[in-house]
Amino acid sequence: MRALRFDIVSIFPGIFESPFGDSIIKRACEKGLLDIRIHDLRDYTLNKHRKVDDTPFGGGVGMVMNVEPIDRALKALKKEVPNARTILLSPSGSTFNQKKAVALSFQESLILICGRYEGVDERVRLHFVDEEISIGDYILTGGEIPAMVLVEAVSRLIPGVLGDSESIMEESFSEGMLEYPQYTRPREYKGHKVPDVLVSGDPKKIREWQKNEALKKTLSIRPDLIEKTKRSN
Ligand code: SAM
Repeated sequence: MRALRFDIVSIFPGIFESPFGDSIIKRACEKGLLDIRIHDLRDYTLNKHRKVDDTPFGGGVGMVMNVEPIDRALKALKKEVPNARTILLSPSGSTFNQKKAVALSFQESLILICGRYEGVDERVRLHFVDEEISIGDYILTGGEIPAMVLVEAVSRLIPGVLGDSESIMEESFSEGMLEYPQYTRPREYKGHKVPDVLVSGDPKKIREWQKNEALKKTLSIRPDLIEKTKRSN
């Protein structure tokens, strides 16, 4: 059985309660496929006020997160999970995608560091983590939502987390393409009909249609995906 442990370090550990306390992630934890542990970064501070940030050297607005509590948290967690891959969530990291999610799903343990304020002392990126991941070219207030995105995308790739593992294989991005269009009842809605082939009962024709439609949809909405796949082959 493949299982994955996540250790998430944040100054707002409570944020994770609801997203991880329901539905698929909760069930996967109960089944022992996932082990998600949330850690308060302030528990790794040495100062009386449990402060984790300071003003930036060289001036500038806002506060920067100190390297020391992060180093101490990583060191403590690495004692428990020595093989863990350590990841800093940051807008300047490489952009997260399905290929990365697949690669991370084969790790046995991931430690995720969530930044806040103006970000994290650069020495964390340079010397204390294995890699830096961004979830897209926009700025969020903290690394907690990016960490949730990563946990969700990676977890559903662990066999047994989703009910039907076939659905993963056919999803968008799994083969450098978007998924084919999906329809359900009613067969006609306000004059808009479901394509006849889908109700033809001919599995070969349906499969062919799905393949063609996936290609057509990708070419019209995300032609860059096809270009990327060509380049990587
Ligand atoms: N001043 C930083 C900059 O311009 O790059 C932005 C800091 S942001 C307000 C605070 C924290 O949110 C970051 O340290 C990071 O952990 C997280 N964050 C924000 N946007 C993110 C993104 N697109 N991907 C991953 N993490 C992000």
